[in-house]
Amino acid sequence: MKHSHLPTFTVKPGSKVNLALHDTASTEGVKDKDAAEKQVKRNVQRLAELQEVLYAENKRSVLLVLQGLDTAGKDGTIRHVMTGLNPMGVDIISFKKPTEQELDHDYLWRIHKACPARGDITVFNRSHYEDVLVVRVLNLIGVAECRRRFEQINNFERMLTDNGTTIIKCFLHISKAEQRERLEERLHDPLKNWKFQPEDLEVRKHWNAYMGRGRAYEQMLSATSTEAAPWHIIPADRKWFRNIAVSSLLVSTLEGMRLKMPKPVKDWAKVKVE
Ligand code: AMP
Ligand code: MG
Repeated sequence: MKHSHLPTFTVKPGSKVNLALHDTASTEGVKDKDAAEKQVKRNVQRLAELQEVLYAENKRSVLLVLQGLDTAGKDGTIRHVMTGLNPMGVDIISFKKPTEQELDHDYLWRIHKACPARGDITVFNRSHYEDVLVVRVLNLIGVAECRRRFEQINNFERMLTDNGTTIIKCFLHISKAEQRERLEERLHDPLKNWKFQPEDLEVRKHWNAYMGRGRAYEQMLSATSTEAAPWHIIPADRKWFRNIAVSSLLVSTLEGMRLKMPKPVKDWAKVKVE
């Protein structure tokens, strides 16, 4: 199976997203869970090879942005897809509620500092997109400010890509019913209790403000999918499908970068080790 055939939907720049048209439980293009898990393993291996060249080349970098509501699977994606990479070249950054110090700066301050160094892959578990999602839903900013931020984010990401960072943005798309199941699991499974946060129930009450027609997520996806940094909508109700989708996207993106091992500065073969 070719990963390029996966129906991970790339949001066309300038188009209006309607999330209802995207099946959260899609498994299209993948035979079954077993086949998916094997493919994920192969993808992870390939990713490790590509990462080594990215690191050796030391010129460009990759930023994977993961967005999605609570229980959408951001942590699980990281665990499954980034496993097996050389930790030296990988950074995982989870963005929480801004601290007082962070709030004393513009919202991109903490983001820019966390962006990948040359040669590195950085994963954002939540991101600057919270500043146009949760912040908008809680009415901490109005419509006009939100629109300005979409512009600022597009310009910021453009600046990053101009400077050698390839940006991959994945929206992990789950259904409201799937979220209920996952929250209940967190409540009832002793091994998952630790993940449960009472705030998750508060956020769930705002489901429609996040996921409804024309609301926060649709607005954000429509306004910030650009040529430089497009959004991918990942059907995420099936964890194995989500894993194969994100890992395939990473592999094909890194392959598309045409990474090359750097040429030696000297003909080292002539140098003798005494
Ligand atoms: P979690 O990812 O479950 O550990 O939770 C992190 C929490 O931080 C979520 O409730 C986010 O909505 C919140 N958060 C992250 N970034 C921001 C932000 N820029 N403004 C407000 N809340 C944020
Ligand atoms: Mg949480």
